[in-house]
Amino acid sequence: MSELKKHRMLIGGQWIEPASGKWFESVNPFTAAAWALIPRGAKADVDRAVAAAYAAFYDDAWRKLTATARGALLSRLADLITAEAGKLAEIETTDNGKLIAEMRGQLNYIPQWFRYYGGLADKIEGRVLPIDKPGIFNFTREEPLGVVAAITPWNSPLLLATWKLAPALAAGNTVVWKPSEFSSVSALAFGELFERAGFPPGVVNIVTGFGAEVGEPLITHRDVAKIAFTGGDKTGEHVYQLAARGLKRVTLELGGKSANIVFDDADIEQAVKGVVSGIFAATGQTCIAGSRALIHRPILDKFVEQLLALAKTARMGDPLDMGTQVGPITTRSQYEKVLDYIRIAKEEGAVCRLGGAPAQRPECGPGWFVEPTIFTGVKPDMRIAQEEVFGPVLSIIPFDTEDEAVRIANGTVYGLAAGVWTTSIRRALTMSERLEAGTIWVNTYRAVSYMSPFGGYKRSGIGRESGIDAIREYLQTKSVWIDIAGNAPNPFIMR
Ligand code: NDP
Repeated sequence: MSELKKHRMLIGGQWIEPASGKWFESVNPFTAAAWALIPRGAKADVDRAVAAAYAAFYDDAWRKLTATARGALLSRLADLITAEAGKLAEIETTDNGKLIAEMRGQLNYIPQWFRYYGGLADKIEGRVLPIDKPGIFNFTREEPLGVVAAITPWNSPLLLATWKLAPALAAGNTVVWKPSEFSSVSALAFGELFERAGFPPGVVNIVTGFGAEVGEPLITHRDVAKIAFTGGDKTGEHVYQLAARGLKRVTLELGGKSANIVFDDADIEQAVKGVVSGIFAATGQTCIAGSRALIHRPILDKFVEQLLALAKTARMGDPLDMGTQVGPITTRSQYEKVLDYIRIAKEEGAVCRLGGAPAQRPECGPGWFVEPTIFTGVKPDMRIAQEEVFGPVLSIIPFDTEDEAVRIANGTVYGLAAGVWTTSIRRALTMSERLEAGTIWVNTYRAVSYMSPFGGYKRSGIGRESGIDAIREYLQTKSVWIDIAGNAPNPFIMR
């Protein structure tokens, strides 16, 4: 334990130890061994961080920067991330077990968000209104909110933080970021780059620790104006309730039970690849996982046969190996949860056609690996078809008609994403309209971009991230009235 690196938190431009004097271990999911010590933040640290962010928000070093200069800081940060992408990818893989192959791609793409919102910073414009009152000039200003609390999960830690930090900073806010307890090391390494890019002290602060000890005091702090949260829907519900007490703004990106729907007119080979990538990429630990494959009955047997054949070829093992395709589950408790859902599915009568157990392969070592798992015979109302597993577990559900596919796909509490595989343009368009989800992919899956809005319908969330509209989540509108006629109105009558 003494050999492990003891990390520090970033508050007000200083790298500091937690007020509690306590640290906790971060465990590498491949070796199942501790590899870093994370500061165990608490209310006292949150208070310091919010005070620093609040002071920075009103400080000329940030407030008086022109929007163009603010954008230039974001662009400089993008360059630094590009330069450090390899190092950050390796840290992330060691900390949360995500494949290095995926992390390199993600780290090379993350800078685009900072460039995009850096470019947008000086395009935040108010309007002059042709107001219906003579002698009055009325215009609007789009202003930042103040201190934004960013609370992020462990599955794509830096990407999901970027989705919050880039628009929040471009809009002129300051930030206190609480990363997941399971993926704090990459967040702290990322924090160094904000400093190097030249952001004034206190504009970005990072407090590590647990949800109840850091997240809650942050959400309920009087001087926090907005909470931007990504995580599970139950936690999101709690966050929403806490935020409501302070009448705070929220963006919530929550879970999903997305349907990947394959019609009999689809290009089957492409659809099989799409369904595999929908569920087994990132070991199924993504909010957008296509965890339900809805298959048109005429092609069911053929499709399942090809799907099993491809899924069986998945190479498991060390996530730092570029050839690995399915890595470990990030946390022990998540590993146990996935195995629990597999047991529940079997008890419910689903038929396990692949996997369904911990991986016993030598290349998996002592890590928390679950075999890619496929169930057939799944009924739409089974728990395995309704609840988010967040692991490499796919449920196959047959359907006969378009109407039935829509009913099954929309028949969960979630609405994050859906995939449609068809060669019919009519189907592509009508399904895009009828599916209740924030993202629809047709003949593709998992694509995201800094340009395209992302977020959930129903219990999958509130608000949108990415794209032009996302910056509005970090702004408030002020209406300014100026009397240019100089004639004082009757003070007893509202104008
Ligand atoms: P959690 O909801 O458990 O945690 C998310 C974050 O919230 C963590 O930083 C966590 O801290 C913190 N937190 C936990 N409890 C509280 C609390 N009471 N008050 C304030 N903050 C709290 O999610 P996971 O980290 O387990 O991530 C997986 C979940 O995230 C999945 O359900 C997935 O669907 C969802 N997700 C959604 C995405 C989307 O964009 N829609 C994208 C990716 C994931 P800590 O864990 O350190 O205690």
